[in-house]
Amino acid sequence: MPADCIFCQIVAGQLPATMLYQDDEITAFRDIQAQATSHVLVIPNRHIASLGDTSDADIELLGRILRVAVSLAKEEGIAESGYRVVTNTGHDAQQSVDHLHFHLLGGNTLVPRLG
Ligand code: 5GP
Ligand code: ZN
Repeated sequence: MPADCIFCQIVAGQLPATMLYQDDEITAFRDIQAQATSHVLVIPNRHIASLGDTSDADIELLGRILRVAVSLAKEEGIAESGYRVVTNTGHDAQQSVDHLHFHLLGGNTLVPRLG
């Protein structure tokens, strides 16, 4: 794990975060700067820099991350009202933390634009 990766530090419990879920592969916590009423980050515990750095060996992990996001949407009470799951990859997408993460956003009407 890169020593300076803040998400690796959150997984390891070295940096505080509002934890919502953790198992041996996946961690979910509240985004420190919420961009929606409910804004959760779902990440692999293992350091993977971005979606572009995954391989076929990660297919099950990626599926599990999405399923955790669905469960959290229910727990957050946004399953019926609707939500968005987004991952930013690289410069043009303005990825700012180089540890793969999926944003779960909901609880209010989200802006329609995606790009
Ligand atoms: P990105 O811009 O890479 O798609 O998303 C990174 C997200 O991580 C941002 O929404 C940002 O608010 C969040 N973030 C950055 N640093 C921290 C932190 O130390 N703790 C938590 N909980 N979220 C963080
Ligand atoms: Zn990391």
